[in-house]
Amino acid sequence: MKVLKFGGTSVGSADGLRSLTTIVKNGRPHHRLVLVVSALSGVTDALAGWLARAPETADPDAALRYLYTRHHVVASGVLRRPALQRYTAQLQERLSRYTSILTQLPARRPSADLRDAVLAIGERLSAPLVAAALRDAGVPSVAQDAAALVRTDSTFGRAVVDTRVTRLQVTDWRAQLQDDGVPVVTGFIGADAEGRTTTLGRGGSDYSAALLAQALDAHLLERWTDVRGLYTADPAQDATAEPIHQLDLPDAQALARAGQLGMHPQSFDPLVAGNIPLHVRCTRAPTEKGTLVVPVGFTKRITSLAS
Ligand code: ASP
Ligand code: MG
Repeated sequence: MKVLKFGGTSVGSADGLRSLTTIVKNGRPHHRLVLVVSALSGVTDALAGWLARAPETADPDAALRYLYTRHHVVASGVLRRPALQRYTAQLQERLSRYTSILTQLPARRPSADLRDAVLAIGERLSAPLVAAALRDAGVPSVAQDAAALVRTDSTFGRAVVDTRVTRLQVTDWRAQLQDDGVPVVTGFIGADAEGRTTTLGRGGSDYSAALLAQALDAHLLERWTDVRGLYTADPAQDATAEPIHQLDLPDAQALARAGQLGMHPQSFDPLVAGNIPLHVRCTRAPTEKGTLVVPVGFTKRITSLAS
């Protein structure tokens, strides 16, 4: 079992989705795969921007138009006609569900739970698009909302995960999965005991993927991104950032907790707990070695992971 996490730029364009499909098709004969995806690039920032402007200047109609166009343009570039028609109907139906959430924005200052319900829309729209792209390419796939899998407390905006309940929920879910299917799970989100949507903090999809890998006892987490592996800092923001080829899990955990590596600070906690290696790879350059983050004493298995 391998968990594959794809970030916002990897799912944010038709080219990205085509690469994702190829990566999944190549991996499927060898492993059972579970995907975890971020929102399409730019979407969570847009959602956060509307929240920041609410209540004064929030325009729910403009928000809905943006969300429709952002997803429909990518879908049009990747899905064939019948699949595109089905997806468009599904997108419209989903957006009408979110209308009631978004129309609350101009009315009052958004509460903490409303904020998370808004922020979660990005992943809730991306997972069905990725699943549709996989199905259209012949890979059985369904989108799965992580609210049913990842249990958290009610600290909206940076919820604390209950790993025990999460494991139970993930185990039940796994038992119902089709053997040859590739489920696509929303990153970033969970739900509290009352079923209210929570988020794990910005950039939380990495953490979600690691939590899923741990709860599924996966042998490897692959993190597919638009850069060629891990760097000492975010290479897009920091010119002094240097590539890292290999790292021990405890070192990675310490670096991420200190705000380095450009990953959510808790991303490595489930991997350390489960002794699960991480392979960071580039969607645009899938043959590159990327970065391996390995449990201490795992050196012998590295060559087989990198293949
Ligand atoms: N979409 C969320 C964010 O942009 C989570 C993620 O991408 O990891 O923060
Ligand atoms: Mg993102």
